[in-house]
Amino acid sequence: MTAKIRLYVEHALGAGQSVPVSRAQAHYLFGVMRLGVGAQVLLFDGQSGEWLAEVAEAGKRGGVLSVLSRTRPLQMPPDLWLMFAPIKKARTDFIVEKAVEMGAARIVPVQTQFTNSGRIQRDRLQTHAVEAAEQCGATVVPEVAAMQRLDRVLDAWEGDRQILFCDEAQVASKPTLPAVDGPWAILIGPEGGFADGERARLQRMAQAHGVSLGPRILRAETAAVAALTLWQAALGDWV
Ligand code: SAH
Repeated sequence: MTAKIRLYVEHALGAGQSVPVSRAQAHYLFGVMRLGVGAQVLLFDGQSGEWLAEVAEAGKRGGVLSVLSRTRPLQMPPDLWLMFAPIKKARTDFIVEKAVEMGAARIVPVQTQFTNSGRIQRDRLQTHAVEAAEQCGATVVPEVAAMQRLDRVLDAWEGDRQILFCDEAQVASKPTLPAVDGPWAILIGPEGGFADGERARLQRMAQAHGVSLGPRILRAETAAVAALTLWQAALGDWV
C-alpha cells in the first residue's frame, strides 16, 4: 500500500466534519492522484493534530472530504526561529523546505547589509512551507514572516530569546550551546557574510551566542541545515 496523501487544510477539523476541497486540491486529489469516492487521505489543520478522512464527493472543481478519526495529536515544534538573509530563489526555497523538516517554528527572512536579494515572494515561500509540512509529517505549518531589516529585528528583540549566531569569522572550535531552555533563534548571514558593525552589535547582545560551523565556509543553505541540526541535537525535540 502506498503512503496516504497528507494535506494541510485551513479548516478546523473534528470527527464527522465535512471539509470542502479547494479547486487546486481537487485538481491534485482527483485529477493528478485519481482518488475517487471512498479513498482515504490524512488532513491536518495546524491546531488539532492529524485526521483520517475519506473522499465523500469528487468533482473537477471541488469536492468534500469527510473526517473519520484522529490519527495523531498536535505536535508543536520547539520555539525556534530560523533567521536568514535570502539568497537566490532556488536556494531560498531550499532553506524554507529544510527549516520545516528540521522543526523550526517560524522562518524569518532578514535583510542584512550585504543581503543579495532585496525582496522575497512570501506567498511562494509559505506554499513551500505547507508542502514541506505535508511531506514530512508535521502537524503544524511554520509561518514565513515578511522580510525585515536585521537592525530593526534586533532593536525589537524580546529579552529572553537566545540567538545562535552563526559567524563565519569565528575561529573554528567545537560549538557548545549554553543549556538555556526557552525561545531561541538561529541567525545565518548572506553570501557576503556579516558586516563588521552587525557582528559588533551581535557580540554586545547578551542573548547572542556566536558559533563556528567548522573550518570551511559553508553556503548559507548548508549553514542553515547544519545549525538547525546542532541546535536540535543539543536543545530540541529529538527525544
Ligand atoms: N562571504 C563570507 C561567507 C558567508 S557564508 C566569507 O567568505 O567569509 C553565509 C553564512 O553562512 C554566514 O554569514 C554564516 O552565517 C554561515 N556560515 C558559513 N560558514 C560558516 C562557518 N564556518 N561558521 C559559522 N557560520 C558559517
